[in-house]
Amino acid sequence: MPLRHIAIIGSGPAGYYTAEAAQKAFGENVLIDVFDCLPVPYGLIRSGVAPDHQSIKGVSRRFEATAQSENVRFVGNVRVGRDVTIPELRGLYDAVVLATGAPNDRPLDLPGEQLGNVFGSAAFVGWYNGHPEFAGLDPDLSAKTAVVIGMGNVALDVVRILSKTEAEFAGSDIVAHALERLRKSRIERIVILGRRGPHQIMMTPKELGELAHLMRASPRVDPADLPEEGEDALLEPGLRKSVVHLRSFAAIPEEMHADKPIEVEFDFFAQPNALFGEEGVEGIEVEKTEVSAGKATATGETYTIPAGLVISCIGYRTSPIPDVPFDERAGKFANDEGRILPGLYAVGWARRGPSGTIGTNRPDGFDVADKIAEDIAAGVLGPGGKPGGSGFDVIAARRELDVVSFADWKKIEQAEEQAAREGAPREKFVDVEAMIKARGL
Ligand code: NAP
Repeated sequence: MPLRHIAIIGSGPAGYYTAEAAQKAFGENVLIDVFDCLPVPYGLIRSGVAPDHQSIKGVSRRFEATAQSENVRFVGNVRVGRDVTIPELRGLYDAVVLATGAPNDRPLDLPGEQLGNVFGSAAFVGWYNGHPEFAGLDPDLSAKTAVVIGMGNVALDVVRILSKTEAEFAGSDIVAHALERLRKSRIERIVILGRRGPHQIMMTPKELGELAHLMRASPRVDPADLPEEGEDALLEPGLRKSVVHLRSFAAIPEEMHADKPIEVEFDFFAQPNALFGEEGVEGIEVEKTEVSAGKATATGETYTIPAGLVISCIGYRTSPIPDVPFDERAGKFANDEGRILPGLYAVGWARRGPSGTIGTNRPDGFDVADKIAEDIAAGVLGPGGKPGGSGFDVIAARRELDVVSFADWKKIEQAEEQAAREGAPREKFVDVEAMIKARGL
């Protein structure tokens, strides 16, 4: 079996699960380059997973084992589509797998979306997680009311981060600039807007349950919004458990709410219509909905919520890459179960869209490795003998690309660990230059 070369674009969970699967499928007969546009690996694990969910971030240890195996290379600080093109990579490698995730916010497409202090969750999460693109976001947390749009797990992450005390961030890797800003936050009320009802939330039980244990915030659900309890029996088990949490929030007595200075209010059947304000957002106009057979219909009844901060957590889109067919409507690469073009594949959110947990990417990785093996067997990928990484190295040298290796990353990581405040695992570098500089320490 001739040696095969695979380029994986993106070093997040989808990327490293694919590398692991390709190693299992091809053993010693494969060399894998994992590219990332940042000088640091792990994508969503580093920049998306909430900083207070360190146990979820632990999966990076598994990816590190893959990254350090002999036939896998990390090729950091290289933006595919700019520094090297997809046709070039397809010429060099037998298979190119796009594992670029979905790093852009889905737009709200509402009037007033461009007002100050209105952010999508990719930007806001990127800010508190120190993603270089969003580290300078500068959100103003001085208003009393924040509105979070969407009832998924990302909305929960954002609500938790806005609610926690400094003590509750102990052991997290929230970046210093965010901690500093949150320390001065004056937010007293966080409204979570859901355009459908309690039976249609996307929040999972464990994550939703965390809201009940916040030191200074208390979740509030209007009992009138809850369906008859008997109707819960028809829900799938995970959602049923989440609804049990909502019912327990609805039963919290008034005096217990009074003990906590921040109210987290679930506003169901509430569809955002417009944001208003002069320069910065001052409020949001909402229209009541009715839900029938899971579908929301606007009723014409509107009201406004004054708000000085709005964060929409309504999903993500993949970034297009030149020369790759893109499905505009779905916001992901156009693909047939992972196949885009001969020798070009997509995995993870770039393939499926932004749903599922980190573990969902594992079967995706194995599936694409199987498809590559099938395509090799069918002769679609040619006889082998392509140059792979050594061919890329020639291009990198010619273009003077400053490629960051995994050994470089380990030095950056060490510098981040050394800079950590007490009890924290790391203090992340939040700009690319600082990351690259730390490599030389
Ligand atoms: P999500 O689960 O798809 O939730 C998106 C929410 O936004 C839904 O409530 C949706 O309502 C609402 N929405 C969409 N478009 C809207 C619009 N135009 N106006 C108002 N509301 C709108 O997405 P997510 O929260 O971004 O999460 C993405 C994935 O990552 C999910 O699979 C999630 O479970 C996962 N995740 C997991 C964790 C964890 O396990 N700890 C943490 C974060 C994220 P409709 O249902 O009515 O469309």
